[in-house]
Amino acid sequence: MKFIFDIKNPQQQYIQITAEIKSSGDETEIFLPAWRPGRYELGDFAKNINHFGVFNEKGEDLPFAKQNKNTWLVQSKGTEVLIVKYSYYAAELNAGSTYLDATQLYVNPVNCCVFTDDTYDDEISVQLNIPDEWKVANPLKTINKQFKASNFDELADSPFICSSQLQHKSYEVDGTTFHIWLNGIIKPDWERLIVDFKKFTESQIKRFLIFPTDEYHFLCQIVPYKLYHGVEHCKSTVIALGPSYAVFGELYKELLGVSSHELYHTWNVKAIRPIEWTPYDFKKESYSKLGYIAEGVTTYMGDLFLYKSGVFTLDQYLLEMNTQIQKHKDNFGRYNYSVADSSFDTWLDGYTPGAPARKVSIYTEGCLLSFMLDVHLLKFTDNNYRLDDVMTNLYHKYAIKGIGVTEEIYQTEIEKFTNTSMQWFFDDYVNGTKDYTPELIKCFNAVGLKLYSAYSGSEFASYLGAKIITESNETTVLSIYPNSPLDTAGAIIGDKVISVNDIVINNDAEEWAKFFRDDDVTVTVARKGQLIQLQLPKGNRTNQLYYKRYYLRKIADDKLTQEQKQTFESWSDLD
Ligand SMILES: [Zn+2]
Repeated sequence: MKFIFDIKNPQQQYIQITAEIKSSGDETEIFLPAWRPGRYELGDFAKNINHFGVFNEKGEDLPFAKQNKNTWLVQSKGTEVLIVKYSYYAAELNAGSTYLDATQLYVNPVNCCVFTDDTYDDEISVQLNIPDEWKVANPLKTINKQFKASNFDELADSPFICSSQLQHKSYEVDGTTFHIWLNGIIKPDWERLIVDFKKFTESQIKRFLIFPTDEYHFLCQIVPYKLYHGVEHCKSTVIALGPSYAVFGELYKELLGVSSHELYHTWNVKAIRPIEWTPYDFKKESYSKLGYIAEGVTTYMGDLFLYKSGVFTLDQYLLEMNTQIQKHKDNFGRYNYSVADSSFDTWLDGYTPGAPARKVSIYTEGCLLSFMLDVHLLKFTDNNYRLDDVMTNLYHKYAIKGIGVTEEIYQTEIEKFTNTSMQWFFDDYVNGTKDYTPELIKCFNAVGLKLYSAYSGSEFASYLGAKIITESNETTVLSIYPNSPLDTAGAIIGDKVISVNDIVINNDAEEWAKFFRDDDVTVTVARKGQLIQLQLPKGNRTNQLYYKRYYLRKIADDKLTQEQKQTFESWSDLD
């Protein structure tokens, strides 16, 4: 099987793709992936396909018809090799997309490469017709603008960047070479970058004992505007980050955060993989309830390894944890839909805010549940074993052998250490919606951390019960706290705040709300072309905080028990 990529008019952002595929006989079904690993929702990449045609070796048209949105049925009788030609519109630039302009060809093959069942495991050669002066960043070794993938899975998992702007450095850990590629307008601080990357890479490999591949590539798309995104692959990750000027400034911790997270995925998801994704079925939705392992454990461990390896201070680490606690607390979906069910439904609304209070995040809930499991493992093993021992076992006992993971396997591997049933944990918190705040606080306390809550900094959020956002001189209600003053008064999501006590607001809704803190308040909103007055309930509004700010602090050393000190040491220790 062969693919040829041409970029005749890059400004039009269409990549001309030619695929030579062995015919399946009288009829050949040709598929384009409907989704990409890392994003468990339909991507419907076929919407970017134009000029689709199929020819025989003589260049004669072969008849075809679409069977569904990403499948073509070709009449291929008497033809050995089909020449499939199409253009792919590549105008989206993120960590999982395919993009073309005059400076670069960036391909995520799972977006734009077709396949057939019969040739899925065949070797694939790829030819890139690109300018001679462009460099190529590709985990599959590219020589003379050509490379090979051992099968479609490997091709689909191997994004590459061809560009005139690539910068490159590498480092070694335990015999593995790690390449860092930066594409775009960026002035890298290589020394700092490599010191930090080496630390979290070493610490992760130390825990898993081996790294799954002999080479790894961080492919970073640095853009001049705000962007934060990463996607994992077996031998690489694509990270999209911006604005450029902040990457080695205030965004540096995000660069480290996403890089450590994606590297951890090399073991967890690319190797330790839910059974439903073993192997991947690119043709249709692939439902799994295990997103709390795939993304949850990765979110937890990605940050924790930054702390354990000394890249993050404890305070920096706790800030990341605070973000997860805040998201958990602010989402009332936690009372309505379990993280396992929310994982199943990522295909429906996993990547949009969606209906209020309907579901939870596999990242946030998965991270906090992982922390709690980590502490329980320490507790039941006299501080001898942790969640990363469970993950190491999953890697060596299942992933290496290509066996997919189930909830039962995960729970069993945990219970081998705890020696006591953890069924309650999975029933109540993973598959159930029981409030786990008390358990979470106990776990924080076990490692000497204390959770505090306070006024959120927003009058609207804390005292009136609505989160608002002000953009382009317009103040909009984003979310409403159930039974808060604004909820009782009839505010709805999307309302535009016009005035507070008849004072027209001008980017200062918060200030006027604060000004009238002790008075009766009427908020006027615009809603679907009408002005509506919302009378807030009379009486003292400051005796209750609705939306709060949550933050973790380490308990002072002299107030810690010996047990807390030991548990903290074992929890944060690398060995
Ligand atoms: Zn992830």
